[in-house]
Amino acid sequence: MEATRIHLEANDIPTHWYNIAADLPTPPAPPLGPDGQPATPEQMSAIFPDAIIEQEMSAERWIPIPQEVREIYRLWRPSPLVRAVRLEKVLGTPAKIFFKYEGVSPAGSHKPNSAVPQAFYNRAAGIKRLTTETGAGQWGSSIAFAGQMFGLEVRVFMVKVSYDQKPYRRLMMQTWGAEVFASPSELTETGRKLLAEDPDNQGSLGIAISEAVEEAAGRADTCYTLGSVLNHVVLHQSIIGLEAKKQFDKLGLYPDIVIGPCGGGSSFGGIAFPFLADKAAGDKRAEGLRCVAVEPSSCPTLTKGKYAYDFGDASGFTPLMKMYTLGHDFMPPGIHAGGLRYHGDSPLVSQLLHEGLIEASAVSQLATFEAGVQFARAEGIIPAPESCHAIRAAIDEALKCKETGEARTILFNLTGHGHFDMSSYERYFSGQLENYDYPAEAVAASLAHLPKVG
Ligand SMILES: *Cc1c(COP(=O)(O)O)cnc(C)c1O
Repeated sequence: MEATRIHLEANDIPTHWYNIAADLPTPPAPPLGPDGQPATPEQMSAIFPDAIIEQEMSAERWIPIPQEVREIYRLWRPSPLVRAVRLEKVLGTPAKIFFKYEGVSPAGSHKPNSAVPQAFYNRAAGIKRLTTETGAGQWGSSIAFAGQMFGLEVRVFMVKVSYDQKPYRRLMMQTWGAEVFASPSELTETGRKLLAEDPDNQGSLGIAISEAVEEAAGRADTCYTLGSVLNHVVLHQSIIGLEAKKQFDKLGLYPDIVIGPCGGGSSFGGIAFPFLADKAAGDKRAEGLRCVAVEPSSCPTLTKGKYAYDFGDASGFTPLMKMYTLGHDFMPPGIHAGGLRYHGDSPLVSQLLHEGLIEASAVSQLATFEAGVQFARAEGIIPAPESCHAIRAAIDEALKCKETGEARTILFNLTGHGHFDMSSYERYFSGQLENYDYPAEAVAASLAHLPKVG
């Protein structure tokens, strides 16, 4: 019988992260400050420690992982690579389907891969407090856990709709010692202004980012942490793909297709970029490799957005980044994959898509839950709604193989488990979940407010 779970030892945890900036055909467009000039490290140092800023701007291909970080990674890494043989059988596909399971971390997703090094570098710089935003609660719980590992205070602004829908994520953060506030909140200028306009504002990731950044910029002992989008986060997440490559090496296999859900793009970059490194290095095995980022059709940043400079947050505190965007004041529908409700995307992922090196696709909410349930019944693991987007795409690729008879090797990123998302499954089972159409008018209105650059 073929192995279904590919084992690595603790010593196999990679010693370096991979930085795709070193392998881009054209240099990345720099983030721009309020004056329209490239943002300087000094401007960023109001909210980030120097080591993080250095990683953000680095063009080094390999960046060492600090030993203290590797030791905490050992609590759950290396994460399993699993061949989904039962799912293959159910589908009757000749394809080999593999998933890299990131739900084994303490917080239940890939996000601690970056939360841990971010907390480490902040502590090393003498920072005492961290602020952050969280959508579905995944990043907030990851930074609460990581902050606790390094003795840092953590304050989390949690998107209101998730705060109300997901009390257990909030309690997780509190268990790890973090303070949690519904965003928009009364604690910041941004929050007070929005609540004055609309006391029922349900919040968005963009608004919560504004609140967390505002507070970090106003206090010397406090820095801000971001769970996706930025280059250093994508860098930290490369541990996923680097481990997966070692696991495929053990099998003597190589994926034809790498698929990941895409919110801010860090987990997608994390699994896909180390394989694209092989392509950049001329590795024959990677010649025909396809990498597909999957997003919700209700928040179709990569597939319907514009490649342009935009703010990372709703009120324009952050530098401008060149990325696919739906406009910084786009308010996505309240879908159940909260981690994918972001108006923009990683500049690195965006550039690769723009240059035709990766692909993007969009899937509707009901189709993702259908795939998630099929996966859970075959493989046992109940996936996070975000992960269900990748599962949908992986199943569709496997079904295409059934038609063509091609035995492709498919790898997808199972970014997290869905144990805190059972109310979403309940709504799916009871027929209350809906598909939202592509919000063409809302996107057009929001894109009309893109900042003017150059
Ligand atoms: C946050 C999250 C995502 C989206 O991750 P990005 O790196 O922002 O694209 C996907 N899956 C799960 C389980 C998440 O928590």
